[in-house]
Amino acid sequence: MYVLEHNNQLINYRVIKSNRKSVAIIVYPTKEVIVRAPNQISSDKIKNIVRSKGDWIIKKRNEMPEIVIPKKRDYTEGDKILYRGKEYTIKVINTVGISQSTILLKEKEIIIVKKTKEKKKIQELLLEWYKGEAKSLVKERIEFYMPQIKKPIGDIRIKSQKKRWGSCSSKGNLNFNWKIVMMPDEMFDYIIVHELCHLKHLNHSKLFWESVEKILPDYKIREKWIKENTLQLDFKGGIL
Ligand SMILES: [Zn+2]
Repeated sequence: MYVLEHNNQLINYRVIKSNRKSVAIIVYPTKEVIVRAPNQISSDKIKNIVRSKGDWIIKKRNEMPEIVIPKKRDYTEGDKILYRGKEYTIKVINTVGISQSTILLKEKEIIIVKKTKEKKKIQELLLEWYKGEAKSLVKERIEFYMPQIKKPIGDIRIKSQKKRWGSCSSKGNLNFNWKIVMMPDEMFDYIIVHELCHLKHLNHSKLFWESVEKILPDYKIREKWIKENTLQLDFKGGIL
C-alpha cells in the first residue's frame, strides 16, 4: 500500500499492475483507492498521477456514504456482504442432485448453491463459510509472517467475539474474529501482525509498536482505516 499527502489529507492507495495500457483510479464504496496500472510503469510515475488526481479522489471519497452497508444485515438474498474488502451480492440457487450446499464467489456475486433439503439457513451457511475462509487465510498469513517473529505459537482459533478483532494469551494462543475476513487484505494483515507481535511483547509498550512497525512500516494507516470502517463490518467496540 502506498500513501501520499494532498491538501493535508492522506490518500492511501493500492496498485494493481497488469498487462494494460493506461492508468485507471477507482474509488470504492469502502473509500479504498485502487490504481490499475500497466506492468512497466514506475511507482514514482504512479504517485505523480495519483497526486494530479488528488482533488478528485478526495471529493469522490467524501461522497461515499459514511456507512455503506446497513449496520444490521440479515444475510439473505439480494443483501450485500463484504469479503476481503470487496462487496458481493448474495444470490441463492436451490438445486437437487448435490450432496452438500456450497458457496462460490463470482465477480460481484456470492452464490449459495443450496441443496433443496438443506436444513441450515442461508445465514448459517454463510457464517460457516466465513469461518472456514477466515481460518485458512489466518493460517496462511501467520505462516507468511512467522519467520519475522521467531517465537513459539500456541493454538490458533477463529471466534465470534463481540468486541475484539483478535487477542493473544500468555500461553501464546491466538484468537481471531471471523469478521476480519471482511476487511481488505492489508487490514487483515495488520491484525495478524499485531497479534503475532504480542507473542514477543504481551502489552502495548514502545517495544511492541516498534516490532509492529518493523514488519509493517505503514501500520498506522491500516489501524486508522480499521477504526474508521469498523461500522461497515457490523462491528462495534474495541480493537485488539
Ligand atoms: Zn494489542
